[in-house]
Amino acid sequence: MDAAHDGVRAGNETLMPEGDTIYRAAATLHKALAGHRVVRFESVFPALTRVHDDRALTAMTIDKVESVGKHLLMHFSGALVLRTHMRMNGSWHIYRPGERWRRSPRDMRILLATADFEAVGFNIHAAEFIAEKDLARHEALSRLGPDLLGGNFDRSEAIRRLREQAAIAIADALLRQNVLAGLGNVYKSEALFTCGINPFVAVADLSDQQLAAVVEAGRHLLRANVVVSATGMVPDGRSRRTTGRDSPSERLWVYGRARMPCRKCGATIEVRKQGLDARLTYWCPNCQRL
Ligand SMILES: [Zn+2]
Repeated sequence: MDAAHDGVRAGNETLMPEGDTIYRAAATLHKALAGHRVVRFESVFPALTRVHDDRALTAMTIDKVESVGKHLLMHFSGALVLRTHMRMNGSWHIYRPGERWRRSPRDMRILLATADFEAVGFNIHAAEFIAEKDLARHEALSRLGPDLLGGNFDRSEAIRRLREQAAIAIADALLRQNVLAGLGNVYKSEALFTCGINPFVAVADLSDQQLAAVVEAGRHLLRANVVVSATGMVPDGRSRRTTGRDSPSERLWVYGRARMPCRKCGATIEVRKQGLDARLTYWCPNCQRL
């Protein structure tokens, strides 16, 4: 099973995994690995194998695997945490020992095995060990905005951080992980559509009520897509849906639907590259008027 699906392609754009993908990956890894002892550890990253040489991961137990925004954290009993970030192409897979990998061994970056499972990290973009006590002050993690999938999501703090981006278009502000952690390009377009907010409006021109609505919409969409089924199989990013419908052609409101009719009003859905990273934004010019 895929713990985290690879970057999903829509047109020419490779998508960053969204918070829901990482959340599901963490849940799958947690289910398979937590409470079990590491029997084997390999990595192509010298910084990781150095720590293993010093502190022997094979003497440790995996306590917990969790997601924080788009970071995946594996906690070990020696008060050590492995942080990985998948960026565009990275993914974690879970295999039974001896099972054939569905990606090339050349792409393997980290392998961590218990008696029952092999967790393989392919094309991981960034990986490091952090002492548990240093986690709270970690540079990338401490800057993250409120985690939309976090247990105690702080909405007023999210709105305060959005307000700091006053001159920025709302669609760009929503993608900044130091404002809100977990939202990616698909749910950005979908959340703005469900709130009837134009993606190019500056944050300063939106009311607190509108900001709260779009934040809640993003949170709702992410949460609706993280249910890990009882069989342990995890749906990949392609099964993402925001409309509540299952049919592949009906799953999303606007994302990936350029030049097609709006599901609410029939107007033609538009697409434009937006922001410094030229991420694609989809919207209905009638439902989301300027
Ligand atoms: Zn419309």
